[in-house]
Amino acid sequence: MRTGLCAICLAAFLAPFASDNFIFAQSAAQPAAGSPTHQWAIAIHGGAGESEWEHMDTDTAAAYHDSLAKALAAGTAVLKNNGKALDAVEAAVEVLEDDPLFNAGRGSAFAADGANEMDAALMDGATLAAGSVAAVSATRHPIALARAVMDHTPYVMMVGPGADAFARTQALEQEPPVFFFTEMRWKEFVSIMRANGKPIPPRPAGVPPEAKPIAMPSLVPHIFAHRFGTVGAVARDSDGHLAAATSTGGMQGKLPGRVGDSPLIGAGTYASDHSCAVSGTGVGEYFIRLTLAREVCTLVQEGRTPQQAADTMIHSELPALKGGEGGVIVLAPSGDAVWSSNTLGMFRARQAAGHAPEIFVK
Ligand code: ASP
Repeated sequence: MRTGLCAICLAAFLAPFASDNFIFAQSAAQPAAGSPTHQWAIAIHGGAGESEWEHMDTDTAAAYHDSLAKALAAGTAVLKNNGKALDAVEAAVEVLEDDPLFNAGRGSAFAADGANEMDAALMDGATLAAGSVAAVSATRHPIALARAVMDHTPYVMMVGPGADAFARTQALEQEPPVFFFTEMRWKEFVSIMRANGKPIPPRPAGVPPEAKPIAMPSLVPHIFAHRFGTVGAVARDSDGHLAAATSTGGMQGKLPGRVGDSPLIGAGTYASDHSCAVSGTGVGEYFIRLTLAREVCTLVQEGRTPQQAADTMIHSELPALKGGEGGVIVLAPSGDAVWSSNTLGMFRARQAAGHAPEIFVK
């Protein structure tokens, strides 16, 4: 089962693959995508992980590339029209939520009972207004629901059936379990449950029986590696305001009711015009303990560059907690977009006004 404890075991198993050289290739000396002269900028991510990068074939890499390009284009379309950073991050994340390749919205991971419980949050750096939802199971775009919580309630966070019920009052699209189900994510879930000696629940209601019995992936160690796949976006608009958004199905095989870092303001998501905007991905329990996203912004406020701040948290503080794995995207008020991850890879992309999109899959 994908609890934090299990993640620690996997981290130990995977440690030999995460060579220092590779990690530095992920983070050091990246050219900045933006500069003070660029009006708008955006960065997105589609999760950090391990085995995806070890075994990814060219067709899969191309599919992820196209998906990231589409999401980036949705965000830049808002910014090019002088739209708000908040609208841009929501637009980008909605595209990724609809894309079954990612662990958010359609394609979400499964809790131990076989249900999808999705988490999402966004934050407006101009006002520090924020909205978040956890353990929602019927709302097609959890990020839109987080936005509705921010815009139309006095609250910051809503959870579970109450949050889905609120979505209905806001006329947000509702979907049955079969909509969120993907065979790929279910196979991965089954392999993880088997590997941990846990019972495999029935397929969700309305999902057709599997065409072929699932092969025995539990005998192949690399399949057990992390499959984070959370999605997120950070943006700066032409008024100079920042925003951040994150959406996830959480960790595969989590106990029903477990909530990760993504919807917790300051842990997996944070934005302030005075420091930076951050969206994280990784083993949520460690991001929560470090209030990682807020910490990155605090370091920026204290004078570190966004890259230094991100690297400090991702390469020093996070791994200092055994099992702390993941990555962040960070956008500074200048529009500089950077990232840092201590896993083998992180799906990511960025673009600033006047620049071509940059998309990194491998
Ligand atoms: N951070 C997410 C969580 O712990 C997982 C992920 O990033 O994929 O729920």
